[in-house]
Parts: sequence; C-alpha cells; structure tokens
Amino acid sequence: MSDWEDEYDEAGKAVSGPSAVVTAPRTEWRPPAASSSSSSYRGGTGSAYRGGKGGGGEGEEQQGSRSDWRNSREQRGETSYRSDSGSWRRGSDNGGGGNDGGGGRPGSARPVLISVENSMIGRVIGRGGVKIRELQDSSGARIKVNRGDYEGEVLIFGSSDVQQKAKDMIEELISGSSSGSRFNNGSERSGVRNDSCWPASALQASTGPATTPIDWTNIRENREKYETMKWQDLPPLKKNFYIEDEAVARRSAEEITVWRKENNNIFVDDLKEGEKRVIPYPVYTFLEAFQHYPEIMENIHRVGFQKPTPIQSQAWPVVLKGLDLIGIAQTGTGKTLAYLLPGFIHMDEQPVPRNKQSGPGMLVLTPTRELALQIEVECNKYSYKGFKSICVYGGGDRRAQIKMVTSGVDIVIATPGRLNDLQMNELINLRSITYLVLDEADRMLDMGFEPQIMKIILDIRPDRQTVMTSATWPAGVRRLARSYLKDPMMVYVGTLDLAAVNTVQQTVLFVQEEEKKAYVFDFIHNMEPLDKVLIFVGKKIVADDLSSDLCLRGIAVQSLHGDREQCDREEALQDFKDGRVRILVATDLASRGLDVHDITHVFNYDFPRNIEEYVHRVGRTGRAGRSGASVTLITRGDWKWAAELIHILERAGQEVPDELVLMAERYDKHQREKEMFPAKSRGGRDERGGGGGRRGGSRGGAREGGGGGGGGGFWGQKERRSREDSNWHF
Ligand code: AMP
Repeated sequence: MSDWEDEYDEAGKAVSGPSAVVTAPRTEWRPPAASSSSSSYRGGTGSAYRGGKGGGGEGEEQQGSRSDWRNSREQRGETSYRSDSGSWRRGSDNGGGGNDGGGGRPGSARPVLISVENSMIGRVIGRGGVKIRELQDSSGARIKVNRGDYEGEVLIFGSSDVQQKAKDMIEELISGSSSGSRFNNGSERSGVRNDSCWPASALQASTGPATTPIDWTNIRENREKYETMKWQDLPPLKKNFYIEDEAVARRSAEEITVWRKENNNIFVDDLKEGEKRVIPYPVYTFLEAFQHYPEIMENIHRVGFQKPTPIQSQAWPVVLKGLDLIGIAQTGTGKTLAYLLPGFIHMDEQPVPRNKQSGPGMLVLTPTRELALQIEVECNKYSYKGFKSICVYGGGDRRAQIKMVTSGVDIVIATPGRLNDLQMNELINLRSITYLVLDEADRMLDMGFEPQIMKIILDIRPDRQTVMTSATWPAGVRRLARSYLKDPMMVYVGTLDLAAVNTVQQTVLFVQEEEKKAYVFDFIHNMEPLDKVLIFVGKKIVADDLSSDLCLRGIAVQSLHGDREQCDREEALQDFKDGRVRILVATDLASRGLDVHDITHVFNYDFPRNIEEYVHRVGRTGRAGRSGASVTLITRGDWKWAAELIHILERAGQEVPDELVLMAERYDKHQREKEMFPAKSRGGRDERGGGGGRRGGSRGGAREGGGGGGGGGFWGQKERRSREDSNWHF
C-alpha cells in the first residue's frame, strides 16, 4: 500500500489532510491516533506534526486545520482543486520540508492534478495498483490517486517533464471515454484515442450513476419463468387414488375420536393455511385401504400381518388421497409400510407407464446406511408390478451402485451424502421422481444432511407428492416441512412410542462409573443360551474398548459404530441377526431402526444422550409380541434424566426405584438453587465436575455442565441436550 492510501477511508474520503501543505499554523493539527504511526507521516515532516493539541476532538481539529490550510493556500495563490466528493484537496507547497512524498525534492515542479470521472480511477490504478506502479517506474513521476464520490483526482509530482510524461501516459490509459479527463485548469482534452480494452460504449455506461437500483421484481419474474421452463416438459402427474370404503364413511366422528385415542393417542392436523380440509377417517383393516389393489392385498396375506398399525391406519387414507404427509412416529411403528404401499400404487398409476420413464419414480432419503438397508429389505418383502429398488449409501461399493442406478430402477433408497455425490456427477436422474420420502427427518438434520437434502430436492419436480417422517418435531424439522412439503397433513402418534416399551421389563441400577464393566461382565456371565443382548454405549471408543475386553475373555461379541467400515458393520449386524454372536456392543447408531426380532435384553451401559433415545433403545427388545428386558446403569452424572425416566417408567407400568426419585429431587433442588443463587451453584457445579467432589463422577461434570437453562418444556430440553450431545459419538 502506498503512503497515500493510508490517509483515505474505504469510501475514498480523506481522513487527514496532506502533511506536505501544512505550514506553521497547522502544527496544532494532529493525525488521528490510528494514523500517527502510518508511513504517511514519514517523510520530511519533522517535528512540525507532532506539536500542537492533544486530546480529543481530532475530527474537528482536522476539519479546522484543513480549512485553514485551504485558506492559506488560496492566499498564496495556489490553484484550488475541486473535489465534489469533499475528499482531500491537494495544495502544492514545494517550499521544502513538506510531506508530499516528493514535493520537497530538488527540481520538483508544482504537482499537476488531473480530474477524472470516479469510475475511470480503476483504469488508472489497475488491479492491485499495478498500473500506477508501472507508470511510476517508467515516468519517474510520483503519482497519487484519490477517489471521491463522483470525481477522482490524479496528482502527479516531480519535475515538469516527468509530470508531463506521466500525464500523457495517464491520458493514454483513460482516453476514449466521453467523459475523458480534464486538466485542473479546466482545459478539456478532446479527440483522445481510445485504445482501451473496453469499448467506448462500455466506458460510457460505466460513467453512469453508480447506484442503479436492483430490479428485484424482474429477477423474481425471471426466476419464476426459469422454474416454469425447467419443469415444462415433464409428463402429467396423478396423485389421488383413494376410494373411501363405505364402512369407513359410515363411522361417526365420535367413534373415530375414541379410536384415535385408543390407538397411540393419534392426533391428525391439517397444516394447510386458511380453510381446513376434511381429515380422512382412519382405516381399521387392510382391505378398507387396498381392496382395489389385489396385488397389495396378496403381499399382506403373504407376510401375515393381522391389521394395520395406528400410523398405517391413519396415514394410508391421507397419502392415497395424494396429500403430502408428515408422520411423527418412530421406527417400529410400521411407518415404512405406511409410505411404501401407497408409493407403489402412486408409481404404477402414473399416466406415463414406469417402463416409459427415464429414471426412478420413488426416492426415500434416510439418515444411515443401516436404515437404508433395512428399508430396502422391507421394500423387497413386497413385490409389486416388478418394481426394482436399490440402496445407495456412503461406504458401499460406489461403482456397483452407479451400475445399478444407470441400469434402471424404480425406487431409490439413499443416504443424502452418496445420492448428492451421484447427482452432482450426473449419474442419476431425479427429474422422474414423483414420490419423495424424507425418512427420519430429525435424524438427518442431526447428522448435518440439510445442505445435501436441499440440493437433491432442487432437482425433483415441485408438484411431486412428499411424505416426511420424524420421531420428533423440533424447529429444524418444521422448517424442512415448510420448505419441501405442500399443504401437508400431520399424523402424530404420540411423543414417545411407549407402547413399544410396555412389553419390556425395565431395570435401573445405580452404579459408579468405574463399576460399569463389572456389572456388564456379570450380566453376560448370567446370560441364558438363547438370550441375545444389545449393549448400548455412548462413544465409539467405549464400544471398541468393551468389545475388545469381552473378546479377550473369550466371549463372542460384535460391535457396531460409525467408525467401522461398512462391510464390518453389515457383518456385525448379520452375525447378531443370525445368532452367530449373541452380544452386540453398539452406539446409538443402532438405537433406531435396528429390526432384530429376537433381542431379549437391552443393556444401557451408558445412559443415552436424551430420553427419546432411551425409548428407542429399549424398544429394540420386546418386539413382535415377545417380551423383553432392559438394564440401565445410572451414575450420579446422569441425574438430570431422573425425572423424565420416572415419567417413562410410570407410563410403562414399571416399578420406579426410590433412589431414582431421590435423584430427581436432588436435581430439581439443585436447579432451583442455581436459579436463585447463580454464583453459588456455579461453585457447586465445579465441585461435581472437577472430580472428587461430593457428587462428582468423572463423567458427571462433563455431562451436567452447561445444562443450565431450566428446560422450559419438551423442546427446551431438546435444545439443551443438543448442545451437550457433542460429547457423544456414534
Ligand atoms: P418400521 O416401523 O417400518 O421399521 O416397522 C417395524 C417392523 O414392523 C417391520 O419389521 C415391519 O415389517 C413390521 N410391520 C409393519 N407393519 C406391520 C403390521 N401392520 N403388523 C405387524 N408388523 C408390521
């Protein structure tokens, strides 16, 4: 940066006067503190600039001194240079001792100033000041470029001939513009050659007012036009295939209200703005939903299901009607079938037959590979019109996935990362998709997939039908729903699927952190031959550590967590499913969606990161009509979950240990104290967190710390938890 540039602010306004012209009376002027060490004050100024007033009011002082300076310059008969911008006006006092950075040199003539249109300044300076340096080198002149609002100035210092040389060069640089350049004496230079790289018209345009307003209306209209063009060649879409059975239509509103209450307390809402639509009644039987689709009915008979699950009963009429749906339900509630079966019908009934379409018709986005594979398994249980499905997930064989995608499929089940990769490389056509499922949306957001989801959906036709499932309904999921679903209906199957844990005998044990291994070894030691246990831990490293310990003891065990290779994860799961190993140590990667029917026990070695996860974990056992048992180790550090755990146990008809009640009371008291005496409770937290404190377990401090905030209802707790979840790794 040149010395001069230091004296101007970003807008080109001068922040200080030129030191060179300050004569004796100006000694009262002081540069702004920030500039005082600037190189601007380097040359030849001597002590003259350091005298004068101190203290504040520098701005005013500066102004004052500047006007003084102008006056004195005019008195001396110097040329007054105009600057519409109010930026610095340069006088020329070559009387020695000045700080013009050159004016004091022997043989220097009075600086010459060229006024140019502000927009031309860039041409003089060039990028990064290159041009100006070239000029300096070849002409020998010193050049200062100043920029104001409308008009810029170029000052040339040095002897008359170098000034002339530099001036000519600058003229040449900026010639061709109608605005041209003027010498400060006002003499217009006309007829200058335009050897610029810019056409005169462009230069002309560039001299117009800099602040042409952006035409947002035009931009919006263009965007809409582009959107219409983007989708105009798509085949028509059909969405409504629902014919309400007479038996369903005959039911009374009161009966339906009672039915919903008795079936996981189902709640249905129309999220359409304005006038609400009629909410379809649930179906009680498979026939009521699919009697017009015999192939679907055949599949259901084959798998032997007796009746729809609550989410299926209420979701099928909504989805078959062609409406977008948000299903707040968890894995294990039958939600996969809730969107799959209507999806089959949707694809088959499109006006353009499947075999005439250029790509898949259904896309299911899901957060993890395990879930993707499981949905694929579920999908393959039902053969419908020969539809082919594939699973696309990170960690799987990319080449094989590409081969399958390009060979033609109807249903793609994918994790967002890998699908986005294929999409960006134009290996998959998403334009043909008319039925989109965002499965476990909350989990996808937790895992940071929002950007990939956004990019994927940009390539899917906007008039598609969209189904979203989520176990919870936090702000992020609501935002996703607003962005990607159109006037959806919401089917809510209770906050927590307590039905899944009603069949599980739940035991809570109070332990010290260092006792945990002894407990788990003891548990394993007492396992019956047909027992199968899923041991949940909080961190990948604990999963590795515990499974290695068990291996060293000669116990057959597998482990499942996010750091394992995909093939190892699949093998671990298969070994566990097939019973080759009867112990699986896993992170919460396995808490949802893991569909192994004969798990007899869930062992919570570490307490989960939130209470919903507890329900998910415990729900891995006691499935398909079987009973199960869970053991949960609780340390003092887990005290903040005590109250919520009591609630779960009570609602599932389980015994609540006294110690858990005491723990909840202690935590509640602590929270109240914290609110009343923040300073004191901070000390208390340190005591626990620092280890060796009265309440402190080593994990206690880490997991309790930062909890703060007193909950504030279900969503408040969720937010608080997510901040703490960073300690947890799947
Ligand atoms: P999901 O919640 O979709 O992961 O389903 C969990 C398990 O329930 C899967 O093994 C399904 O095959 C099974 N399932 C789905 N619908 C029904 C039903 N109506 N009756 C019994 N089991 C079902």
